[in-house]
Amino acid sequence: MTHQPLAALSRDDLAALLQEQTTAYDDLKTRGLKLDLTRGKPSAAQLDLSDELLNLPNGFTDGSGTDVRNYGGLTGLTELREMFADLLWVEPEQVIAGGNSSLTMMRDCLIYMLLFGARDSDRAWSKEGTIKFICPVPGYDRHFTLLESLGIEMITVPMNDDGPDAEAVARLVKDDRSIKGMWVVPTYANPAGSVCSQEVAARLASMETAAHDFKIFWDNAYALHHLTEEEAKSADILTLASAAGHPDRPIMFASTSKITFAGAGVAFLAASVNNVAWYLGHLGNGSIGPDKVNHLRHVQFFGSAQGVRDHMAKHREIIAPKFAEVDRVFSERLGGYDVATWNKPAGGYFVNLDVVPGTAARVIALAKDAGVALTQAGSSFPHGQDPHDQNIRIAPTMPPLEEVTAAIDAVATCILLAAAEQATASAQG
Ligand code: PMP
Repeated sequence: MTHQPLAALSRDDLAALLQEQTTAYDDLKTRGLKLDLTRGKPSAAQLDLSDELLNLPNGFTDGSGTDVRNYGGLTGLTELREMFADLLWVEPEQVIAGGNSSLTMMRDCLIYMLLFGARDSDRAWSKEGTIKFICPVPGYDRHFTLLESLGIEMITVPMNDDGPDAEAVARLVKDDRSIKGMWVVPTYANPAGSVCSQEVAARLASMETAAHDFKIFWDNAYALHHLTEEEAKSADILTLASAAGHPDRPIMFASTSKITFAGAGVAFLAASVNNVAWYLGHLGNGSIGPDKVNHLRHVQFFGSAQGVRDHMAKHREIIAPKFAEVDRVFSERLGGYDVATWNKPAGGYFVNLDVVPGTAARVIALAKDAGVALTQAGSSFPHGQDPHDQNIRIAPTMPPLEEVTAAIDAVATCILLAAAEQATASAQG
């Protein structure tokens, strides 16, 4: 199929396209749509897959006879740590099972580092003046708002198909002592969908950093969230960093938020044994132990690491058709024009859409007026500022399939209309 840049259309053809899309959009507005593609939440059907959790646990003791109803066990239930160590390719003693949110664990780590320093820091990061983090873009909005809330400056690097631009990162960290860390969403990144290759991971693990306490926040939120039968394996960052002589550089995070219940799952932190001890040392001042009843419930529900993988295949059956539908509708509606590119992710929760530069905010505003909520313009960039105003994150998992179809069709109209408006304005010069 040829992709027609709108600038190449004749005046008459462009006027006809603008008229056609304006009519389509006016029609859309009369339909009274109320659709939401904003956040990557599991659908009710996905949550239903884990309802058995509500009847568990059976009994209240773990494998060693500990009463899970009581205080204690700061590291989390051993059986659950073993299960997820297997799934995250780490050793059980490197894993902590915590509360329901890995984002909270990330925030806690940052706050401990700011207040007390990392395990290998000379002093609290807050005593060092300006602190900066490297942020691959497009990236996860909450990573950026978290850093912003703590006054940590953000430096962007491109997110490529094989993970963050490792050469750009290596150049930045080599001489700047104020760059203390970076985000990496290594598997099916939010929203780019890319998977960090072994080579990129090895480069990040081994690169020379001016800050000797540099940290990689390895947020493996989508480690097990495959959309095809070909399951990407995350790079083994802990082993790579350890082999490169930087065992304390990475801290890995994961959770069952999009495996069982998004609001009542279990979050995990995995790191060197020394980093684990550092984290527990601080955590212990504010907690006598996590919700082990929930841990036991999860152990019984899954049965084994393979049980988790089998469970994820059920999620795939529900959400893969929604991703296929996004691609089908965009291809049908936009295929003939050079007005957008989008990815076909092999996992995760998002489709990364790039529209004509300068029109993303307009597309989102048009969609909003037509009753389709999209994630705010620029949200995948620090401070919400997309330098080219072209990126839109599409989250198709939550609505039922027919709503995904209607919403994507509506978004396609908005993309075409915004592009036609822009081309018309520039033709009029
Ligand atoms: N990290 C990433 C990359 C995410 O996309 C999300 C959820 N949208 C989270 C973390 C949040 O994880 P949790 O529910 O464990 O806090």
